[in-house]
Amino acid sequence: ATPTALLVGTGRGAQLGILIKGPEVLESSRGITTVILDKTGTVTTGAMQLTALHAAGQWNDDALLRLAGALESGSEHPVARAVTNAARESLGSRQGTLPVPEDFTNHQGHGVSGRVEGHRVLIGRRRFMDSFGVALPGEVDGLLERAETLGSTPVLVAVDGEFAGVLIAADTVKETSAQAVQQLKALGMQPVLLTGDNYGAAQQVAAEVGIDEVIAEALPQDKVDAVARLQGQGRTVAMVGDGVNDAAALAQADLGIAMGTGTDVAMEAADITVIRGDLRSVGDAVRLSRRTLRTIR
Ligand code: ADP
Ligand code: MG
Repeated sequence: ATPTALLVGTGRGAQLGILIKGPEVLESSRGITTVILDKTGTVTTGAMQLTALHAAGQWNDDALLRLAGALESGSEHPVARAVTNAARESLGSRQGTLPVPEDFTNHQGHGVSGRVEGHRVLIGRRRFMDSFGVALPGEVDGLLERAETLGSTPVLVAVDGEFAGVLIAADTVKETSAQAVQQLKALGMQPVLLTGDNYGAAQQVAAEVGIDEVIAEALPQDKVDAVARLQGQGRTVAMVGDGVNDAAALAQADLGIAMGTGTDVAMEAADITVIRGDLRSVGDAVRLSRRTLRTIR
């Protein structure tokens, strides 16, 4: 292999907004049979909006949103940003700025916990509430199921150990994602959607962009295991992601591709970063690698 041709490939990549870590990465792009796509922020915009909330117990909607918005101000998660933005918008002018949370803890892939104005607040998925022993009223199941069927992302809130409500967030698929998935298929790669989010939300996005294989409710470690399992089946796997929770899976993949719009942790773990958040750049990156490799043979 002539190093010059490899460097030309990486130089051309930079022009296309594709940053390749080193010439040796091009080699990894050969023979990719499967491309795993993270959902939130990769296939979707990651700019979630709060679409509904259901306060419970002694809490009304405003009080719930205030506590939740305050706690989530400590997190960068798309659900957190949706909740904090909604709280700032609807309460900001009426109740001043949101209180600053204390003892904030991010439970990667599960939720967040902390103290707001003396109250102990938990926000996260159902299993997260279970792990703290929060008793959930019967109607919660139906509420979650309806939201998930609609393709939304519901999270639960507990205050001082008691269930306090459900917040429902929703995301939209990027305009270019369906076309990007078609391109990846045309390049001979089978797409798989991988997410920590619920199965309903995952299924809705998969159907919208033309992906048949879905792995949902995956914890960060499950994401790594999913990549390894597919590799164990003899598949050569590219992984595309943007989050802290994708980093280990990006490193595990034969080819890791990070979205430049995502977290630094993901970009550090990846072999390639596509500067624009456009998923079509992934196909461009693979095409460029293959073309460069052909030139040098
Ligand atoms: P994704 O693969 O969609 O990025 P994550 O692993 O980040 O998923 O999160 C999985 C789930 O954990 C979310 O759908 C949500 O239910 C819960 N969760 C994670 N972080 C938070 C947070 N800051 N606030 C509320 N819920 C969260
Ligand atoms: Mg993501």
